[in-house]
Amino acid sequence: MEPYRIKVVEPLPVTTPQQREAALKRVHYNLFDLRADEVTIDLLSDSGTGALSAAQLAAGMAGDESYAGSHSFYRFRDTVRDLTGYAHILPAHQGRAAERVLFSALLSPGDVVLSNTHFDTTRANVELAGCQARDLPCAAARDLDSHEPFKGNIDLETLEKTLADSGGPRVAAVVMTITNNGGGGQPVSMDNLRRTAELCRRHGVPMILDAARFAENAWLVTRHEAAYQDRTPRQVAEEAFRLADGCVMSAKKDGIAHIGGFIGLNNEELAQKCEVLLIATEGFPTYGGLAGRDLDMVAQGLLEVTEPAYLAERADSAGYLADRVRAAGVSILEPAGLHAIYLNAGRLLPHIPPHQYPGHALACQLYLQGGIRSAELGSLYLGKEDEDGNQVSGPPYELVRLALPRRVYTRSHYDHIGSTLERIVKAADSVHGYRIVEQGPILRHFRAKLRPVTAGGASPSEGG
Ligand SMILES: *Cc1c(COP(=O)(O)O)cnc(C)c1O
Repeated sequence: MEPYRIKVVEPLPVTTPQQREAALKRVHYNLFDLRADEVTIDLLSDSGTGALSAAQLAAGMAGDESYAGSHSFYRFRDTVRDLTGYAHILPAHQGRAAERVLFSALLSPGDVVLSNTHFDTTRANVELAGCQARDLPCAAARDLDSHEPFKGNIDLETLEKTLADSGGPRVAAVVMTITNNGGGGQPVSMDNLRRTAELCRRHGVPMILDAARFAENAWLVTRHEAAYQDRTPRQVAEEAFRLADGCVMSAKKDGIAHIGGFIGLNNEELAQKCEVLLIATEGFPTYGGLAGRDLDMVAQGLLEVTEPAYLAERADSAGYLADRVRAAGVSILEPAGLHAIYLNAGRLLPHIPPHQYPGHALACQLYLQGGIRSAELGSLYLGKEDEDGNQVSGPPYELVRLALPRRVYTRSHYDHIGSTLERIVKAADSVHGYRIVEQGPILRHFRAKLRPVTAGGASPSEGG
């Protein structure tokens, strides 16, 4: 059961099928453009969407809003230092700001950064620094159905080869994303982290954790890595941070905060370089773009997030949703993690070709039939077309992500998702695809306008 009871509630927006149809049409079938009050169950993201605890709100009330040297900063710094062990802690307003500051200080144009999988903002910040972001996921990551427990691991063999290749461009960092968000939220084993750290040390390359879901990764380590079954998630997390030379963190995830992030580093020279950039772009190093109350709420969230009862229930309820989804006849990316369930839309809707976006079609059905907002991770998000609109490179999968906000929805909300999917599966043959009618040059999924495609392949309003 949930290891908390509910003190404050917020009504869910309830809509009719007609209202949802009209809303979806109005936003040109792009779920990002819906107003949140048109959404009943919002599973677009687990970022900054968690529920605060009474202790976090109380900590926020005690926040010190002094411009420099606020008490909130010292509480925040000491909590993060205890957890991570890093000497230098720099707050930032969210994860991508921490990435931008660290990569601007650490990378030189032409460098390469290696990772188990770069998260999209991490990749963007590496590329903005004039560098190349290269993903080296392990082989097991390619098989959606495999139940191998650590599909977030980096491919150690390729990593070793790449680090040893003195002919190529300089490898300036290895970023280990825990859990591997771009790779379906799959965890990284401590064994894989340790071997990566050893390779990095041997080649003089810093290892940086992208630690947004460090507690969820630690929980899965205690469940599935034999050597760690008697450790607490907190002990595992402390050890993971200490294997690396530093971290970037989005506290909107495992800080259970609405905003916040930080950089942790051991290297003093690098930390000083970051500090200069931080002052120029985020704020003075004792607030880094955050209010004092935010620093206090993040600090308290970082203590709550590794509590075994919290993590056990989060894993359990995600497993409950996964069971409901499978029982409805929808395959998921296995094994189910903690922060999201990924639906295999390609398998459910084989009659919709990639260039008509089966993942997007399923996401639209979830909204139309159940008021549920999800995120497509397939051809719309990752595919590319030539000038005539023909798909030239498709992603290997057509997925829909149901991200799970922390402490927000209960099992009866998940039952609603299960029964909505049951209805969709019964009429899966009649679900149609979409085509893009307008798109931007980059990150098109945020702003694209689409139109349904009917059986004949034409859009309903075409030619008339
Ligand atoms: C969310 C996320 C980020 C970026 O953090 P923001 O707080 O959204 O800027 C970076 N890496 C990973 C793995 C993430 O999940």
